[in-house]
Order: sequence, then C-alpha cells, then structure tokens
Amino acid sequence: MTNKPRNCAICHAPTAPARVDAATGAEKELAVTLRGMPVLVCGNGHRQFVNPDFPLLLLDHLTELDEPKLPAGAEKGFIVRHFHCADCGGELQQQPDHKHTFSFDVALPQTDAFTVELATPVYRCSRCGREQLHSLKELRKLTPAALAHAFKAAQIPHG
Ligand SMILES: [Zn+2]
Ligand SMILES: [Zn+2]
Repeated sequence: MTNKPRNCAICHAPTAPARVDAATGAEKELAVTLRGMPVLVCGNGHRQFVNPDFPLLLLDHLTELDEPKLPAGAEKGFIVRHFHCADCGGELQQQPDHKHTFSFDVALPQTDAFTVELATPVYRCSRCGREQLHSLKELRKLTPAALAHAFKAAQIPHG
C-alpha cells in the first residue's frame, strides 16, 4: 500500500484526493445519498474511487452494519405478504406513513468518514404505532442498485 494516489484510469494524469458534495441514486422505494464521499480526481476532472475495493466495502458496511440497526418489521406469508412489528408483533400498515431519512457516518479502512443517507418509506404498526421499515430483507435487496445509481450520479465509472 503506497500513499501516492493512483493515476487517472481514463487519461493517466496524476490524481488528488477530493470529496463529492452530494450524489443521490434511487431504486424503487429506496434513495441513497452520499455526502462528502472521498474520491480521487485528476486535472481533467475525472473521478475514481479512492481504492478499487471501495464500492464493495461500502455496500458491505451498509447492508451488514448500518441497515440491521434500523427499526424493521418481519415478513410473513407466501402468497399475500404481511409485515409484522418487531416490538409487539402487530401487523404493519400496508400504506407507508411517510418517507424517513436515516443517516449514518461511515468510516471505511484508510478512508475519511462521510455521511450516507437512506430515504425510504416507514410504516406504522396498527397495534403499538411504532414506525418501521417493512423489512430489512427488502431494504438490503434494493441497496446495491441504489448505490450503483448514486455512484453514477457522482460521475464515477463503476463496473
Ligand atoms: Zn483523467
Ligand atoms: Zn407494534
């Protein structure tokens, strides 16, 4: 591991560390916003990830560490899907109450921390009233595509 940033993958000019102000990508009900994400940028304005593992590490961090901390119901039923409250087991409403933005500070190895926001509908429990996601599984399923769209919005070539 060297401290010298890699040259630009497109034009081979030297790169320097920079940050992306904000980039948002959405997939169905999930919108991911990256705020202050570190990148490398060359003199011609081409952006790239700070290291090749960055997108996968970020995806893992979100789906394995951050998203499991969110309030989420449990899915039941095969033909008609129901979602049940994590607290009291009551049924969650079918219609979302509103869209909630959850915010995380994400620090990856050898990378300065930045903020990731997940905006997604929350549903109220019909019994105890607690707001939560329909299910963690659903959220995890949408995350890779939403993140890929956010990278695209940040003008970083990806995969
Ligand atoms: Zn370049
Ligand atoms: Zn409940």
